[in-house]
Amino acid sequence: MTIYAATTNAGKLAEFAASAGGYGVGVEALPGLKEMAEPVEDAATFMGNAELKAVAYSLAAPGLLVFADDSGLEVAALGGEPGVRSARYAEDAGLGGRGMGKDARNNAYLLERLKGVPQAARGARFVCALALARDGVVVLRAEGTAEGVVLETARGEGGFGYDPLFLLLELGVTAAELPREQKWELSHRGKAFRALLAEMERTGRAG
Ligand code: IMP
Repeated sequence: MTIYAATTNAGKLAEFAASAGGYGVGVEALPGLKEMAEPVEDAATFMGNAELKAVAYSLAAPGLLVFADDSGLEVAALGGEPGVRSARYAEDAGLGGRGMGKDARNNAYLLERLKGVPQAARGARFVCALALARDGVVVLRAEGTAEGVVLETARGEGGFGYDPLFLLLELGVTAAELPREQKWELSHRGKAFRALLAEMERTGRAG
């Protein structure tokens, strides 16, 4: 069985494909994705966004099983921000430019928002929601989380996004300090994807 990823991110695709092999599932990039109209990700939840993407892209690729993901960081002390706005956190606050890349801007803004908040109150989690759909109907959903705290200074060169600020408490390292395979083991996205594969196997519903 093959499932088609609604992502143009080659890194994500490679990780999805490597995991799926163990379950006898093939993962391929959704053919023609770049030419398809991009749905507006305006849902209030990660799952809502994953579903609307899976629905839209599966309608554009009749008969194929298409999965889409949505993910981000939730910081308890900020009432769950940046949440579904993780990719656009600084931009939403009117902080474009600043002579930095998008990830650096988001990280700088997150640190500003948490200024003065002690480490014990800087708990956060990454969340990933995945939805699998065929012909506009969601057939399976899965979610994964990774718990940690937001540091006051960045550490590590790997990963992307908020990884250098996100300390995995049980390991004492940031997500940017983890080797790629280990991050996939522990990450919200890896957990969500393995949950989706297990659910496919358990229900046999996706075939
Ligand atoms: P996407 O849904 O995977 O595109 O992620 C949305 C945003 O959430 C990204 O732009 C990052 O800011 C943040 N994010 C999601 N997953 C991760 C991760 O594994 N590490 C760091 N940041 C992440």
